[in-house]
Amino acid sequence: PSVAAGAILLGSARRYGNRVAFAHGDDAITFAELGAAAARTANGLRARGISPGDRVALRMPNCLAFPVAYYGTLLAGATFVPVNPLLPEDAARAQLADAEVNLTLTAADVPPLGEDMPTAPPRVACDVDTHLAHLAYTGGTTGVSKGVRLTHRNVVANTLQYACWHTGSLPRLDDEGGLTLEQVGDPEEWPVRLGTGVAINLTPWFHAMGIVAGLNAPVLTGATLVLHDRLDPAAYLADAERLRVTSMGGVPALFATLLAHPDSATRDLTSVRTVASGAAPMPVEMIERLRTLVPHAQVSEGYGLTEVTMGATGAPPHRSGVRKVGSVGVPLPDTEVRVEPVEGGAPLPPGERGEICLRGPQVMEGYHNHPDATAEVLVDGWLRTGDIGVVDEDGYLFIVDRKKDMLLYKGYNVYPRELEELLAAHPDVLGAAVVGRPDDLAGELPVAFVVPRTASVTAEGIQEAINAQVVHYKRLREVRLVESIPYSAAGKILKRELRNRFAAE
Ligand code: ATP
Repeated sequence: PSVAAGAILLGSARRYGNRVAFAHGDDAITFAELGAAAARTANGLRARGISPGDRVALRMPNCLAFPVAYYGTLLAGATFVPVNPLLPEDAARAQLADAEVNLTLTAADVPPLGEDMPTAPPRVACDVDTHLAHLAYTGGTTGVSKGVRLTHRNVVANTLQYACWHTGSLPRLDDEGGLTLEQVGDPEEWPVRLGTGVAINLTPWFHAMGIVAGLNAPVLTGATLVLHDRLDPAAYLADAERLRVTSMGGVPALFATLLAHPDSATRDLTSVRTVASGAAPMPVEMIERLRTLVPHAQVSEGYGLTEVTMGATGAPPHRSGVRKVGSVGVPLPDTEVRVEPVEGGAPLPPGERGEICLRGPQVMEGYHNHPDATAEVLVDGWLRTGDIGVVDEDGYLFIVDRKKDMLLYKGYNVYPRELEELLAAHPDVLGAAVVGRPDDLAGELPVAFVVPRTASVTAEGIQEAINAQVVHYKRLREVRLVESIPYSAAGKILKRELRNRFAAE
């Protein structure tokens, strides 16, 4: 439907009224309360002079104030600008300036804002194809983080693509212009039912995966979302058992932390029906280990990027859907995926590696203040993702690696992810990342940073074990044992930081 993104909350506020929308420790807020609070905030923003098209930054962690401020911003017709609350002051200021923000809200601003305001949302004119719902910043994993211009159509489309896909449902508009879903798929096939789910998803809402899969989708499907201030694996596992959680979502690093915790062997997580992972590659070995933690869950990996609002593909979530190990699934509804040669040219046939290109209603309008970068990635309506992948005969996508992470050893392409998969499967390895070290003769040498499982593990032992499994040019030239691997706030390995260590030597 052609509606503004605020409709995501309005439909659920009416339909799921007294159901708890968010639970945070002893605090909770129902869908009806959230609807009223967001509408008051929207009226409060208007009273403070915020007009449609203005930009409102939210600088706060995941907390009950966030959805109030987020939907309040959308209902006021303003553009949501997410800011990682842990960004250093300078970086935050630069981002706020780049986004030309009119107002910044922190968690402390939210309850007082518009307290006496009406609980009916303001009437605002919104052109879903030109008004921005989000001005969201990329993860900055490979370089400078860029603002991505996402229209209301982008945000509604991607929320529907994801939520409908996961629940076997179709969208409809209620009498007052709220968006709701109707279950149409066979209930036996879709394990998570509308208005019954309990979800736990700690993905930060300032990031693409968090805001769509971790906030809008649970709100639209009427799930109760359990919030935690930070990842405490013991508390997470305890809550998942106590609250009979039905779905878990997050980045592979989250699941690695849970699996490494001793309580993962004793907690009863049989209530969990779906586990959704994304944002970074999930090692095949981890999928196997998750089967023991969540025996009744469908583990499905999805793929996306800020430039497509959030998601582009996913493993089929219904029971009889075919899930292929190591694949990020098939295109979401209304999404097209094709693979092109990295240097450009006609699309490649199934089975051939190249750059993943995407088309669909969730593809951004462009980068903010970067017309050249926009022209480089948006070509004839297709988004060039900068990721290397391959589509098989059945249309399943496999991510090979990021173009920027590929390294060149004596003219041979080496994909670090392939080596990382082997390292992840090694019993002595807790975590690993592979990057290229510049070398005058070879170009780049594959080097692994490894977090060992025990103190007795040796770098040589790991290096030998991996090198016995690969052709000569992919061999690890060095293994460095480290205490930890640096991750971004969005759960991605910061390979830049690892490469910088070579430069500093
Ligand atoms: P920047 O573009 O600023 O360097 P970023 O690429 O981290 O930051 P995001 O939009 O946060 O920006 O991340 C998107 C990227 O995450 C994708 O291009 C892809 O490389 C990676 N990614 C997402 N999902 C998966 C997945 N399931 N498997 C492997 N990689 C993934």
